Amino acid sequence: MRTKVKDILHCKYPEALEGKTLTVCGWVRTLRDQKSFAFIELNDGSSLANLQIVADAGNLTDYADVLPKLTTGASLSVTGRLVKSPGKNQALEMQADEIVVYGLCDPARYPLQKKRHSFEFLRSIAHLRPRTNTQGAVSRVRSALAFATHLFFQQKGFLYLHTPVITGSDCEGGGEMFRVTTLEKGNNYAEDFFGKAAYLTVSGQLNGEIYACALSDIYTFGPTFRAENSNTSRHLAEFWMIEPEMAFADLKANMECAEGYLKFCVRYILEHCKEDLTFFDQFIEKGLLERLQHVADNPFVHLTYTEAVSILQKAPKQFEFPVSWGIDLQSEHERYLAEEYCKKPVILTDYPADIKAFYMRANADGKTVAAMDILVPKIGEIIGGSQREERLDRLEEKMKEHNLNRDDYWWYLELREFGSVPHAGFGLGFERLVLFATGMENIRDVIPFPRYPGHADF
Ligand code: ATP
Ligand code: MN
Repeated sequence: MRTKVKDILHCKYPEALEGKTLTVCGWVRTLRDQKSFAFIELNDGSSLANLQIVADAGNLTDYADVLPKLTTGASLSVTGRLVKSPGKNQALEMQADEIVVYGLCDPARYPLQKKRHSFEFLRSIAHLRPRTNTQGAVSRVRSALAFATHLFFQQKGFLYLHTPVITGSDCEGGGEMFRVTTLEKGNNYAEDFFGKAAYLTVSGQLNGEIYACALSDIYTFGPTFRAENSNTSRHLAEFWMIEPEMAFADLKANMECAEGYLKFCVRYILEHCKEDLTFFDQFIEKGLLERLQHVADNPFVHLTYTEAVSILQKAPKQFEFPVSWGIDLQSEHERYLAEEYCKKPVILTDYPADIKAFYMRANADGKTVAAMDILVPKIGEIIGGSQREERLDRLEEKMKEHNLNRDDYWWYLELREFGSVPHAGFGLGFERLVLFATGMENIRDVIPFPRYPGHADF
């Protein structure tokens, strides 16, 4: 039976493993050849740290034959005895009794030699980059955040809803959507597979509302697509979004849920991903652990859009885009508010109706809507949400103003006709959460196979 490296190195009582003979499998990270013996650093992805293995000519009858095969990247199975390590980096190391080489790895061709590579280069070898320390750590933290997401919502009694990837309704304006078609040519969509134009979803929200208006609290967690040609470090063409929707909930309940969720995720990884976060703190963002602890321990700041605009207008800073009431805040504005002014996550509410989607609930002032965005240092917007317009007449008016066709949304309107309830929800971009949690700079490095303009390889 094979033991994972993590279960040896992260064992609570290493003394209990001393003297035991076990089998480990993995890839050679480095080899230090000391002539009559060699140190192998073996990694199997279960932890950041490698298991140190001592291959000794005295112990291994085929030592001379095996040694030249132990190059960086080669895959092995090693059976040996765990002993106390004289080195100070680990409690235990393994004395190899048998080494089986599964796959050789030619040092002349293997790109992941000792030298550090740029993240940009590593994207071009996405089939090998999970074998690097950084990508391994990102992948483990990403997986932990996904698990924490389910844990949080399931514990709160939310139902996990699968909304469709292919959609016939172009929710927020067709410009940013990818089309799904089997037509070889032309644009006669009546003849197309679905008998109408179809797209990849940009949000599961409208479908989510249907289920919230029956089952109370739901969340989605799935792939989302936007064909926006934004070549930024915060946008992907394919990303994962988490969208909770709550019935009998207003904007306040929505904000509480969002803040509670973000803090839960941060606490979860602080507890379960210590080794990886310490690595990020050392090599990617100095002070990361402190920043995350601060997020977990302190209430978020609350500001209205109107207050935010006046703060920006008084800011001792020249923005590229000038600020006035009614503008859509740019990333530079969002980052100033979170990073420099508040120095922590901030929830902005009550945006002008004109810059927000038609479904957001109109406030009594007639100018603003019950919207909320959460902005965080380094990233800007991480969450966008709102209370939804549950009043049929208001919604119909709003749709007219937005030039939306009533017939396209007949079912959405019927939810307001039959037992309408106040409800609210938000969308969180999962990759932005991973950026926030790891201190990584570019969104293309926190998803295994990034999709962005010109790139759909692997
Ligand atoms: P932005 O203004 O940053 O482009 P948005 O306002 O268009 O975002 P929403 O429609 O509110 O985004 O989507 C909800 C959340 O999904 C955002 O808060 C963000 O975290 C995430 N998100 C949106 N677009 C992308 C994208 N192209 N790539 C990755 N995440 C995204
Ligand atoms: Mn938004």
